[in-house]
Amino acid sequence: MYIVFMGPPGAGKGTQAERVAEELGLEHVAPGDLFRQAVKQGDRLGAEVKAFMEQGILVPDNITIKVILERLLSQAGGEGVVLDGFPRNYNQAVALDEALEQQNKSIDWVVNIQVSQPELVRRLSSRWLCRECQAPYSVDGREAEAVRQCPACGGGLYQRPDDNPETVTRRLQVYFAETEPLIDYYRQQNKLVEVEGEGGVEEVAGRIIRALGYDGGDNN
Ligand code: ADP
Ligand code: ZN
Repeated sequence: MYIVFMGPPGAGKGTQAERVAEELGLEHVAPGDLFRQAVKQGDRLGAEVKAFMEQGILVPDNITIKVILERLLSQAGGEGVVLDGFPRNYNQAVALDEALEQQNKSIDWVVNIQVSQPELVRRLSSRWLCRECQAPYSVDGREAEAVRQCPACGGGLYQRPDDNPETVTRRLQVYFAETEPLIDYYRQQNKLVEVEGEGGVEEVAGRIIRALGYDGGDNN
């Protein structure tokens, strides 16, 4: 099973992709997470991607496609994968289709999380993350100063360096120019599942699980 999560920065894509992966027993693969990890470790990949991420533009395809396809290949024996943040342009989408086809596999669903633009900007500029468990919190600056700690694990809170207003604007521009056109590409393949992303985390998670046809369980 291969599920792709799409949506603009701030749509809640990462949070929801992780939940759905856990719920369905799939691997969660997110280029943004892999790249941030590499930057933190200061390895060669990290050095290659850092400047692009800081500017809020896409890491070049030759790097991204190689990293992600290698990761998928290493996961090929498993139950499947939730892809969070890949593909992000047409080139990547075609490379993914071809790589899956070679293994007689294909994407099952593409979940597109929709959130209005003013809400995206608001969410991104008030986004704080836990250093330890990466949980996101939406608080304004002063509140974060006061809280300082993750309610879940006690870790310190920080803001992603690419969540400043200029970079947020650039990331949204990149999304609308390069990634949004993929919605039609997948709609034509009858793979698109559109989900309204405004509302609480639980509420949105419920919508996604139902839209994918998994609605047994204990939700009420
Ligand atoms: P968000 O969706 O909130 O922008 P991500 O963690 O998905 O955050 O991505 C952060 C950054 O990582 C992007 O701005 C980009 O520089 C890089 N990145 C992530 N996914 C891709 C991709 N598929 N192709 C190229 N660059 C990517
Ligand atoms: Zn935490």
